[in-house]
Amino acid sequence: MIELDNVHKSFGANRVIRGITTHVSKGEVVCIIGPSGSGKSTILRCINGLEGYDSGSIRFEGIPVNRTAKSITAVRTQVSMVFQRFNLFPHRTALENVIEGPVFVKREPRADAQAHGRLLLERVGLADKVGAHPHELSGGQQQRVAIARALAMRPKAILFDEPTSALDPELVGDVLAVMRSLADEGMTMVVVTHEIGFAREVADRVLFLDGGVIAEEGPAAELLTNPRNPRTRDFLRRVL
Ligand code: ATP
Ligand code: MG
Repeated sequence: MIELDNVHKSFGANRVIRGITTHVSKGEVVCIIGPSGSGKSTILRCINGLEGYDSGSIRFEGIPVNRTAKSITAVRTQVSMVFQRFNLFPHRTALENVIEGPVFVKREPRADAQAHGRLLLERVGLADKVGAHPHELSGGQQQRVAIARALAMRPKAILFDEPTSALDPELVGDVLAVMRSLADEGMTMVVVTHEIGFAREVADRVLFLDGGVIAEEGPAAELLTNPRNPRTRDFLRRVL
């Protein structure tokens, strides 16, 4: 579903992505781990066209992801992204935040978008917060609104960039539980995370990114329990 072939990306002289090749299949959950600055956010941003890349290719269901308007629209309407900071509109309610994309980008009738939005908020455990504004919600609740907003686009895949790392520890579990249920339902997900426990339980495959390359990849149980690369071992020792 998502194919990366020898992707390179520099910021000036800083070679941030240095030849990444991988293929995410439909229904697969791939977790990306790795040290700060290794290129994790950059590669996610390249996948949904928020950032251009210099060479190689990225395809989503065969459609080349590039900076043309046509490609960006095609990819953005099918691949949602959830960020570390929830980026909700502060003056809109939870439901208004959720229906924004469907109404303004996909031109869904407002009433349909609202009905779907209510279902999604219920699904992430926020049925009673439909009319709440972001400042009335905890970080974990805001992040669950952001996930409902991502789902509102009826995406074929969701990219998560450290969705729980801005949260107080006691709020992390509810967000991970929502992500786990999405994975169980077969959503295709690429998740940058430091939650090694989540990766071990939910990921089909883990990529360890180091210095802009995939230094190691493999099934979660294998890579996280018996890393082959000394750098992976070293990294895991530090985060666990
Ligand atoms: P973290 O774990 O801290 O989030 P990361 O693995 O997500 O790190 P990236 O954000 O992808 O790392 O950044 C990789 C490198 O690219 C870093 O050296 C960073 O400074 C640089 N970089 C990222 N975005 C930009 C930008 N817009 N302009 C210039 N340099 C950038
Ligand atoms: Mg990052």
